[in-house]
Amino acid sequence: MIYLDNAATTKPCKEAVEAAVNAMTSGFGNPSSLHRAGLDAQLIVDGARRIIADTLGADSSCIYFTSGATESNNLALRGAAAAYGRRKKRIVASSVEHASVEETLASLEKQGFEVVRVSPVDGRFRAADFAAACNEDTFLVTMMYVNNETGYILPVKETFTAVKRRFPDIITHSDCVQAYMKLPVKPASLGADLVSLSGHKIHGGKGCGVLYIKKGARVLPIITGGKQEKGIRSGTEPVPMIAAMGAAAEVLAPTIDSRFERVSSLRSRLTELLSGIEGVEINSPEDGSPYVMNISAAGKRSEIMLHYLEQREIYVSSGSACSKGQQSGVPAQFGITGKRADSALRISMTAETTEEELVTFAEALREGIENVRG
Ligand code: PMP
Repeated sequence: MIYLDNAATTKPCKEAVEAAVNAMTSGFGNPSSLHRAGLDAQLIVDGARRIIADTLGADSSCIYFTSGATESNNLALRGAAAAYGRRKKRIVASSVEHASVEETLASLEKQGFEVVRVSPVDGRFRAADFAAACNEDTFLVTMMYVNNETGYILPVKETFTAVKRRFPDIITHSDCVQAYMKLPVKPASLGADLVSLSGHKIHGGKGCGVLYIKKGARVLPIITGGKQEKGIRSGTEPVPMIAAMGAAAEVLAPTIDSRFERVSSLRSRLTELLSGIEGVEINSPEDGSPYVMNISAAGKRSEIMLHYLEQREIYVSSGSACSKGQQSGVPAQFGITGKRADSALRISMTAETTEEELVTFAEALREGIENVRG
């Protein structure tokens, strides 16, 4: 199997699996229980919390565990809307957010909030456009760090700086799912008050995410119950998945730079291989994240090509895996439309991807372009 769909999900690493098994066997207590078994489970949760906080250069008290980034994004947006929305109504967002942000914004709009979506100009987001879209009525700005469909790196730091210069009280949120453990993600240096992360995108397994909440930023809970996570996210903690996410972050944190270099050279090699195939266009910007490459396959419909490659046990994605069959509006925001959008494929790598795998993929793609009808 050649797995080139790591933006959809990643294979859990050995350390994550071991940490989960350990938590399910020796640490199976409920962290809320007052006896020793409960304390042991609580220690596992707090250990993972500390590791993740360290990777962000943050204090442990700012880390809140959730079920995944979809929940983190919902909590950030709905929670901030509940905290600040009585007096202020405007939210400013990028026009290329993941569905878990975009659909939440659409739902908030139905509740009476005003959402201003800022688009890129000539394929580039401009910090000043976000600052200009803010007014006295704005309480939240949300901008993802790395776009999951194209790898485009959004100017989060510049934007949040520009916004806060005009309106220091605005809360800033960044969905850093596709950046975490690939680029340095430091909320303080990004100027982000809220940051969403996902365990399964960093080899940590599915079922755990994080919302970083800066001290002083207010987010009201969207799930009520036993007041776990200081009341911000009730529900018995998924200790094994939290342990797994912590273990994965611990393994990956020291190698962010070396893996980035390795994946950058893989991407250059892939670019070279693709340049030899008639009709293939690269949709991702050259200065995007090397982990994600969006291409168009000579007008051949994405799904047909995806299944052609699948028969050769090569797994890629069409656009975004989260939009399953539904066409996403994100490529159009970057000027990718018509046949070019209909034939878009997303190839997403890890540092473990090999050059041989890329050669095999490119060869299969060439054959696919020659053999499939449309
Ligand atoms: N944001 C981005 C940018 C993503 O790529 C994804 C996953 N496709 C999510 C949020 C949702 O994360 P999760 O699967 O953990 O709910």
